[in-house]
Amino acid sequence: MSHFAIPAPRVVELPVAGSDAVFPVRRVYCIGRNYAAHAIEMGHDPDREPPFFFQKNPDNLDPSGEFPYPAHSSDVHHEVEVAVMLKSGGTNISVDEALDHVYGYALSLDMTRRDLQGEQKKMGRPWEIGKAFERSAPVGPIHPVSEVGHLDEGSITLKVDGEVKQEGDLNQMIWKVPEMISYLSDYFELAAGDVILSGTPSGVGPVERGQTMEMACDGLGSMAVKVV
Ligand code: MN
Repeated sequence: MSHFAIPAPRVVELPVAGSDAVFPVRRVYCIGRNYAAHAIEMGHDPDREPPFFFQKNPDNLDPSGEFPYPAHSSDVHHEVEVAVMLKSGGTNISVDEALDHVYGYALSLDMTRRDLQGEQKKMGRPWEIGKAFERSAPVGPIHPVSEVGHLDEGSITLKVDGEVKQEGDLNQMIWKVPEMISYLSDYFELAAGDVILSGTPSGVGPVERGQTMEMACDGLGSMAVKVV
């Protein structure tokens, strides 16, 4: 056993539905503009350009059901997404074999300081301060593939205080889950514990303290997240 020179960082653990087991997180990749209608609402051409990814930090994932409104922003947006959890990885994974690496799926939110992200975009700078802040990715329990199978179609929605704000279907993804895994594995070595946020349908918008976001997806149930 190693003798750490400083206190060792904790392993981020996410709950697995119907199990005492937890899922340990290694890396978090997020795809941008993966639903055509969302690409259009953000001012981009939805034609199939190569995918692009940014990252959040493992400890940005938060299963608590509370989202603390972050500092330095007055325009924090919800982006409901399906999170894909890997049980194994590698490099140069083929599209045909990609789903063999998936452990399960969960509801998630790619919360975004849109005003800060907008400034970074304008200046051609990285997005971290807009995207990878503390507790920026509320996440629901993980549903293993052994229980729910693979999710390639079905409704995905986000309500704020009971009002539907985002509505889409998983079959509208421009880059499908196997394609995202394969593409990422060409640029990075993927491994067990990696998480991929698969993009958001249209209807993103701001939230305020005191509001409740409710994310839902066929096969994954629903989960409420309170903005505090
Ligand atoms: Mn997103």
